[in-house]
Amino acid sequence: MSSNNRVIFFDTTLRDGEQSPGCTMHHDEKLRMAHTIADLGVDVLEAGFPIASHGDFDSVQSIARSVRGPRIAALGRAKREDIEAAAKAVEPAEKSRIHIFLSTSDLHLAAKLRITREQAIDQIAEMVALAKSYCADIEFSPEDATRTDPDFLLKVCEVAIQAGATTLNLPDTVGYCLPEEYGAMFRRVREKVPGIENVVLSAHCHDDLGLAVANSIAAIEAGVRQVECAINGIGERAGNAALEEIAAILMVRKDKLHYENSIVMEKLFPASQELSRYISFGAAPNKAIVGANAFAHASGIHQHGVLANPLTYEILTPASVGYNGQHIVLGKHSGRRALEHRLGELGHKLSKEEIGVVYERFTALADRKKDIYDQDILALLKSEPAVA
Ligand SMILES: [Zn+2]
Repeated sequence: MSSNNRVIFFDTTLRDGEQSPGCTMHHDEKLRMAHTIADLGVDVLEAGFPIASHGDFDSVQSIARSVRGPRIAALGRAKREDIEAAAKAVEPAEKSRIHIFLSTSDLHLAAKLRITREQAIDQIAEMVALAKSYCADIEFSPEDATRTDPDFLLKVCEVAIQAGATTLNLPDTVGYCLPEEYGAMFRRVREKVPGIENVVLSAHCHDDLGLAVANSIAAIEAGVRQVECAINGIGERAGNAALEEIAAILMVRKDKLHYENSIVMEKLFPASQELSRYISFGAAPNKAIVGANAFAHASGIHQHGVLANPLTYEILTPASVGYNGQHIVLGKHSGRRALEHRLGELGHKLSKEEIGVVYERFTALADRKKDIYDQDILALLKSEPAVA
């Protein structure tokens, strides 16, 4: 484990994200998204699962050919044909990685793979070594790590390191862990596995209990230096840890979390919007950082405060994450001050008396209509002479 404080962002929007319901993307969309993800400043871009289909293989290969900046990773099971396909797909990349996984929990070994722990150990040693013969940068993930017997997990990590793994990713595959437990697992591994100081530890969290981001932060504090995440938090089931949330936490709470990273914050909102255009759903309006309402203030008290000084109700500025939408939402909870401000932005400087008249019309309209748009406000000026 390196002792530095730089957190590696590993984006899996195009792999874990893309394989989830409603998130399928066409070849061209994946390629455009890959360029956007590279521009966001991620360190590793997991481009796909090449053995899964010809389409997946082609997308990974095209991304490896044309996207520069991040290391391009391809996923494969601990099987010869998967590793060969992954190696071939990322071969054109400037910097490449093969990412291999094998389940290690007794439940998965018995029910899914039907192999013993000893067989799993042999398979990990053999397949990591095979991948290493193609690529110097190898990531190994013991799938369902958080439900794997803790002592067996130590053995698995040791064997993977001996076979040549350079990153060890311990996923909370089913989104079951609490932050404290997830951190403790990494601390134990760091303490007990020989050679652990020479590899990067990685977190991969799912949001089944809404803890993916909290668990990722707990992992960082326990010495993990790579986080796997996806834009808008897309991914299997409830999704992966949201890239934009981890990046924002590291920025806003730098006072407590002394870590560096390469994410270009102002590109977060545009990247989220672009992804929403390619897949069949966007971020929920109340989603942190990139939701349409993430910076919207509707109550009169909040609006007055934010107009006087944004710090009253904003812990980060909309502009810092590239948000360009409306953040003062006019409705029945708005005050006179917010209306006056909006009219000013629309080019209408009104006297105190005029504002009084228009505000009366505004509140009458707001009782009838849920959302009030700029054209409604302008109509209030025109409907009758503004001053009686
Ligand atoms: Zn996953």
